[in-house]
Amino acid sequence: MTEGSAEARYEAIVDAIDAVLADAPRPVPLHAPLFDGNEAAYVNQCVATGWVSTAGAFVERFERELAAATGARFAVATCTGTAALHAALLLQGVGPGDEVIVPALTFVATANAVAHCGAVPHFADVESYSCGLDPDRLASHLHRIAERRGDALVNRATGRRVAAIVPVHCFGRMAPIDALVTIGDELGLPVIEDAAEALGSTFRQRHAGTFGRCGVLSFNGNKIVTAGGGGAILTDDAELAAAARHLTSTARLPHAWRIEHDRVAYNYRMPNLNAALATAQLERLPAFLAAKHALAGRYDEALRGIDGAELLGPQFDAVCNHWLNTIRLNDPADAEPLLAALHARGILARPAWTPMHRLPMFGDCPRDALTVTEALAKSLISLPSGANL
Ligand SMILES: *Cc1c(COP(=O)(O)O)cnc(C)c1O
Repeated sequence: MTEGSAEARYEAIVDAIDAVLADAPRPVPLHAPLFDGNEAAYVNQCVATGWVSTAGAFVERFERELAAATGARFAVATCTGTAALHAALLLQGVGPGDEVIVPALTFVATANAVAHCGAVPHFADVESYSCGLDPDRLASHLHRIAERRGDALVNRATGRRVAAIVPVHCFGRMAPIDALVTIGDELGLPVIEDAAEALGSTFRQRHAGTFGRCGVLSFNGNKIVTAGGGGAILTDDAELAAAARHLTSTARLPHAWRIEHDRVAYNYRMPNLNAALATAQLERLPAFLAAKHALAGRYDEALRGIDGAELLGPQFDAVCNHWLNTIRLNDPADAEPLLAALHARGILARPAWTPMHRLPMFGDCPRDALTVTEALAKSLISLPSGANL
């Protein structure tokens, strides 16, 4: 392929994306929050009443409405998604010296939360279409490297217990969650879904984060619904929900005046101010999902028939929230010039995350061969996807 034709190829991709965003003021951020509902009114209510911190009516209301929106029996709101993941892992018994299966293609928070437990992330490869953990590869990897010792599944090479599986629903796309839960059940490993990016995504009409032992959401500023900063643990298990509330507060024993605590806890609860913002945002979720679905349709139409790039499209039995519309390039060499050309036009697209095993703090962690992750990391580009577009 000549230099000129490569240039013509990514110019055509840039033009197609530019045309979709023709009406958007530049620069076009990757995912700007949209506050067109009751956000100011609810936040002002907190200020006016003095209920700004972790006690307050909006926290409970947000948890109730989040449970209703996701179909989970319980939602426990936290101060970040990372905190929710950390607490969820601790509550499944993950501790120092354990290994936890994490996809190598994810945002760093997934691996960080494992490290916060004193455990070690063990990186597994993903599928090229869903971008989630590959169940067949994971099963054969675990059968190859691990053995049962008593109740534990132990990595023969490291001698460490494999303690949990954390699938990630990347970009809002559903990981093959039923197959992953089956592997967890067969091997006796709890599945904790990192559904941080997947509020509004479903598989067979069941919401992301409700398949495993528990699931985790994030309400960071660039997520589909924001609390400013925030997260949540979803579960159907009443005892687990109560334990999550206890661990994410100060583990205080209920009493009118006596101040007594029964374990080391984390003070990870979501403040009322953030819950107020999030409650207003959640009311707008159906409208956000509709706007993002329409934008995905426009990207799909514009990119159809364009050489060299493919929009990651619909999945069987799944509904995607289109958190980040993402294209895959046929030629990874197009990625850098394409990103430069998009940024030159004020379109703030971005590549996939640097895979976890390429980061200095996780370079020595155990892992399977990560061929698909490596290929995807070089060829995925996420496009501006805010609900305001
Ligand atoms: C955003 C995100 C989180 C949590 O992030 P916080 O910023 O701590 O809320 C976790 N995992 C993934 C995959 C994410 O995208």
